[in-house]
Amino acid sequence: PIVLGIESSCDETGAGIVRDGELLAHVVASSMDEHARFGGVVPEIAARAHLHSFNPVVRRALDQAGLRLSQIDAVAVTTGPGLSGALQVGLAGAKSLAYAVGVPLYGVHHLAGHVAADTLEHGPLPDPSVVLIVSGGHTSLLLVRDLVREPILHLGDTLDDAAGECFDKVARVLGLPYPGGPAVDRAAREGDPRAVAFPRPLTRPGDDPYAFSFSGLKTAAARWAEQHRLRGEEPPVADGAAALQEAVADVLTRKAVAACRAHAVGTLVVVGGVAANSRVRALAEERCAAAGVELRVPPLTLCTDNGAMIAAVGDLLVRSGAEPAPLEVSVDPSAPLEYAALQPGAPAG
Ligand code: ATP
Ligand code: MG
Ligand code: FE
Repeated sequence: PIVLGIESSCDETGAGIVRDGELLAHVVASSMDEHARFGGVVPEIAARAHLHSFNPVVRRALDQAGLRLSQIDAVAVTTGPGLSGALQVGLAGAKSLAYAVGVPLYGVHHLAGHVAADTLEHGPLPDPSVVLIVSGGHTSLLLVRDLVREPILHLGDTLDDAAGECFDKVARVLGLPYPGGPAVDRAAREGDPRAVAFPRPLTRPGDDPYAFSFSGLKTAAARWAEQHRLRGEEPPVADGAAALQEAVADVLTRKAVAACRAHAVGTLVVVGGVAANSRVRALAEERCAAAGVELRVPPLTLCTDNGAMIAAVGDLLVRSGAEPAPLEVSVDPSAPLEYAALQPGAPAG
């Protein structure tokens, strides 16, 4: 099938088109710059930006694929989790498109989209796969079987902040520009990762092997910067960034590879915005190679939010014969990741 995917859960308006696992179009408009002076995403601004970008982004995706709207077989849309107003704009737009063309609509879990992003580059996921989702709002280690047919098993989750949140907050403390993750990555290039000994939370014997905690790391980085400033000097930002990135990458990849070993799974898939981090990618590569585990990481442009990854889930749902969402489907801003397809607001049963 030819599936149009729509993403609008945060500050990216994304439209993507996938045909039988093949990526035909991938267009993203971001309102990131409009949030920069507030130091974080402002929900009202994000919702208005989606309203503004929806039609042009869909139009560009169709142009890129060389398709007319009437050639689309299904529409898939993120129904959660995310910002309520932002999600509602995308859902309303997706509903009108599906209704106008007379094709089924599928509600997709945003994080299942992040997982499916990898299939657009590397093909179907091996069953089972261990998946490390590291994004702005989530950090989880998953055991994924058939992404659209089976429940998604959580091996572990973060107990507090997400990895991306940690990058974003520490970036602010270090005086780096918004958004923080890419800024830390860039600054770290000039730094020495051994310059500061940041903690490796939840890696002691007896700790939950698959749970994460990043709020302590944020505090440690803030204290380190503060100590420099109390001495009347600016903290060496590049070193701080490199050391932070090293700590996060170390904990993430250590636990992910341990999960592969413990569950005798041969493939690790790392997805979400933080999968774009250069040190996370390099260390995952190194440790997977040493453990004899195949590593799959999507290309950079498919790591952060986009519509193609939502189309990828929609395509899998159509091919698996899944029920479409009813037209009265609504958003679920805090949807837990249990199934790839979401039908909040649908009658139970
Ligand atoms: P979620 O998917 O949990 O709902 P989100 O959609 O906001 O959250 P993503 O778009 O997946 O998150 O990823 C954005 C996050 O990724 C931000 O926290 C950003 O700082 C981080 N990020 C992006 N690029 C990098 C990088 N190179 N290094 C570290 N972090 C990065
Ligand atoms: Mg974003
Ligand atoms: Fe995301």
